Amino acid sequence: MLDFGQPLPPPVNEPVLSYAPGSAERAALKEALARVGGEVHEIPHVIGGAELREGPTYEVRAPHDHAHLLAKCHDGGAAVTDKAIAAALAAAPGWARTPFAERARVLLRAAELLAGPFRQTLNAATMLGQSKTAFQAEIDAACELIDFLRFNVHFASTLATQPVSSPGITNALELRPLEGFVLAITPFNFTAIAGNLPTAAALMGNVVVWKPSESQSLAAYHTMRLFEAAGMPPGVINVVYGHGAAVAERCLASRDLAGIHFTGSTTVFQGLWRGVGERIASYRTYPRLVGETGGKDFVVAHPSADVDALAVALVRGAYEFQGQKCSAASRAYVPRSMWPAVRDRMVAHIEALSMGDVRDFRNFMGAVIHERSYEKLAGWRDRLSKDAAARIVTGERWSRERGWFCGPTLVEVTDPKHALMQEELFGPILGVYAYDDAQFDETLALVDETSPYALTGAIFATDRAAIAEAVGRLRQAAGNLYINDKPTGAVVGQQPFGGGRASGTNDKAGSAFNLLRWTSPRTLKETYVPPKSVEYPYQGAE
Ligand code: NAD
Repeated sequence: MLDFGQPLPPPVNEPVLSYAPGSAERAALKEALARVGGEVHEIPHVIGGAELREGPTYEVRAPHDHAHLLAKCHDGGAAVTDKAIAAALAAAPGWARTPFAERARVLLRAAELLAGPFRQTLNAATMLGQSKTAFQAEIDAACELIDFLRFNVHFASTLATQPVSSPGITNALELRPLEGFVLAITPFNFTAIAGNLPTAAALMGNVVVWKPSESQSLAAYHTMRLFEAAGMPPGVINVVYGHGAAVAERCLASRDLAGIHFTGSTTVFQGLWRGVGERIASYRTYPRLVGETGGKDFVVAHPSADVDALAVALVRGAYEFQGQKCSAASRAYVPRSMWPAVRDRMVAHIEALSMGDVRDFRNFMGAVIHERSYEKLAGWRDRLSKDAAARIVTGERWSRERGWFCGPTLVEVTDPKHALMQEELFGPILGVYAYDDAQFDETLALVDETSPYALTGAIFATDRAAIAEAVGRLRQAAGNLYINDKPTGAVVGQQPFGGGRASGTNDKAGSAFNLLRWTSPRTLKETYVPPKSVEYPYQGAE
C-alpha cells in the first residue's frame, strides 16, 4: 500500500541519552548551549521556501535569565499570512502528486538528521528558549520529535486497507490530501508537538501554514531549518511567527482553509472552532478541527497505595518542567490516614529539588515561560495564602529578579470543589484534598466531576479490585489513564496521547487516528466490460 509496497515495520523509540558527567552527549550539548546562546538570530518567516523578515519585531529571551536576549523575531500579521496561504496553495498540486513514499522519506530523513547533527542544536534551543533541563529537552526536542516523525510514517503506511473487488471490476481507495491548506498552531511547551503538528498533515499530502508560539520561536526556527535540510519542498510548510489572532483571522477568512491542527489552551481552541462555525458556509470543504488543549490532571490514591511511590509520582508529575506539561499532576486525592506520611515525604523531596539556570545541569527545575505566567501564578499563590479553605504546605523560593522562578508549591484544600481543583494553572502548584478513607467511591465521583477537563489521570492502589473499580468509574475522566505511575511522560507509539471533554478532540497525536484526520479518501471503481443494454435479466419474458 501507499507505494512502499507494504506497511513499514514499527520503529523503535529513540533511546534517551543520559547526559551523565563525562558523557560525549553532555560535552556536545554544552558546546551547543554556548553556540546557540551566543548568537542573536533575526528569525525569518519562511514562505514558499524563502526567508522573509517582515512585520514589527519582538524579542525572545531566556525565561531563567531574562537579561539574555536569544533572538529577534517578526510578527507576521495579516500580510505575511496572506503570502503563506498563497505559497501553500501554489505548492499543493505538486505535493499531492508526490508519491507517499517520497513524502515519507522527507520525514525519515528529518528524523535521522535530528538523531544526529541537529540533536544538540534543537536541545540547546529548547533549553534556552523554554527553560527545560537537559533531560526534559532530550525527551521532547530530540526523542519525542524523532518518534513522531518515524512512527507517523509507519502508521500512515498501514492506513489504506483496500476494498474488495468483484469479478470484472477493480476497486481502490486513494488517500487524498484535504482540499486547501491546513493551519497548524502550536504551543510553547513542547518542541516535539510544534514539529509534529505541521509534519503530520504534510505527510498525508497537505500543505501547511504553521504558526508557532512566540515563546517557542527559537526552537521553531531550528526545527524549520531541520525540515528544510531534510528536503521539505518549498511551500509545503510555511512558517509565520507572531501573534496568533491575526494569523488565525486571515486563515479562517480563506475559503481554502481545510483544517486546523491545534495544540494550546482550551479558550483559544474554542475561539477557533467558533470562528469556523460562523463562516461555515464560506468554505470549499468542511474544515477538519483537531485540537489538544488544557488539562487538570488528577492523581487518586486508594488506601492500599504505596506511599513512597505515590509521593515520588506526585513530585515528578507536578513539578517537572515547572508544571507546564498539559499532563502535569495538578490535583490529588489522598486518603486522610495516609496524607501525613505522603505529605512529609513530598516536602522532603520538594526541599531537595534544585531550581535555577538550566545550563547548570544540577538543576531539576528551570523558570516558567514568561512574566505573564509568573504574575498569574504569583497571584494564585498570594490568594491561596489568605484563603481559609486552603493551606500552603510548602511553597518557598519564588523570585523574579533574574528569571521567572516559581518555587514548587504544595497546597492542601479542605473544599474538594476549590477553584484550585478545577482550573488549569499551568505552573508548579499542586492541590491536594485529603478524603475520608471510607469514601473512595464518593472520591471517584469527585475526580470525575470536579473539572471540565479530561486529559490525563493516575490511580495509585495495590488492591486489584480498587484499580478495576477506578478504571471503570473514570472511563471518561481521562484520555490517558495511568495505574501506579505519574500522569506525565507519554511516549509516541506506546501511550497514544490526547484527552476528551474540554481537553480536546482526542485524536491521539502520533497515531493512525490523528493521521486519518488529514486525508479525504477517494473511492475508485473501474469496470472492465461495461454493460451495453439498459434492461436487466429479470425483465425477460417467461
Ligand atoms: P496558548 O493557547 O496561549 O497558545 C497556543 C498557540 O495559540 C500559540 O501559538 C499562540 O500564539 C496561539 N494563539 C494565542 N491566541 C490565539 C488566538 N486568539 N487565535 C489563534 N491562535 C492564538 O497555549 P500555550 O500557553 O502556548 O500552551 C499551553 C496550553 O497548551 C495549556 O493549556 C496546555 O494544557 C495546552 N497543551 C495541551 C497539550 C495536549 O496535548 N492536550 C499539549 C501541550 C499543551
